[in-house]
Amino acid sequence: MELDLDGGRLAVFLGGLSLFLLLETVFPARPWQTGRAKRLFFHASLAAVNTVLVRILIYVPLLLWIVHVEEQGWGVARWLGLHDWQEVVVSLIALDLFDYFWHRANHVIPLLWRFHKAHHHDSEMDVSTALRFHPGELFLSAFAKASWVLIWGPSAMAWFVFEGLISLCAQFHHSNIDLPAPIDRWLRRVVVTPRFHTSHHAVERAYGHANYSTIFSFWDPLFGTYRMIPRAQLNSEAIGLPEARDLTLSYRAWFAEPFMRRNTGLPD
Ligand SMILES: [Zn+2]
Repeated sequence: MELDLDGGRLAVFLGGLSLFLLLETVFPARPWQTGRAKRLFFHASLAAVNTVLVRILIYVPLLLWIVHVEEQGWGVARWLGLHDWQEVVVSLIALDLFDYFWHRANHVIPLLWRFHKAHHHDSEMDVSTALRFHPGELFLSAFAKASWVLIWGPSAMAWFVFEGLISLCAQFHHSNIDLPAPIDRWLRRVVVTPRFHTSHHAVERAYGHANYSTIFSFWDPLFGTYRMIPRAQLNSEAIGLPEARDLTLSYRAWFAEPFMRRNTGLPD
């Protein structure tokens, strides 16, 4: 079963990547400043490093942990007596809620921000940005995820659906697709759209420290962190963090960022 689900994950990942690459080619929201192939290669190589590290050190132990928690019957989902598709749907919403708070913590707690910053250092945004994470952030989030698994007790199936959707949604909301405004407005009531998430990548920190949702967008309005940067302000200088504009595609800067003395960009 693990292999089948693994193959499914890869198919979802590659399918999403191809689809959103195509859509942002045909309907780009912003012109690219750097070569797209260069960006894709850079981010794909970060993802390759992360995949090897994550697979050995996180993915397998986390999966064993999920199966163990499920076998023991631990967690709120069990306690509520949820099963089958109902369990998958409710777990999806619950796990996405945990993710909202985890992402918010990444923008507030200085140690977490050091690692999460490596993602926000991209001074552009397209589908390849979804591959840009520091391995340190992935390790820290694995511990957070292991805790939610213990608290919530999702089935392995719910977990796979959640992870597949996270990957697809991250590709979608990082992509440089210019959705027609009415469609984006309608869609963003339920799911995180490219416009919704571009606002989260704004240099202007009032917008950057907001819009933390990952799959469902309603968490931000619910918890008072919903802010949209006006479309007119989204020029070529509007995305990223000011202190590393020319280091977007530097392997060294990407890796070393969390260990630098400076740690600016936190909310006041
Ligand atoms: Zn963020």
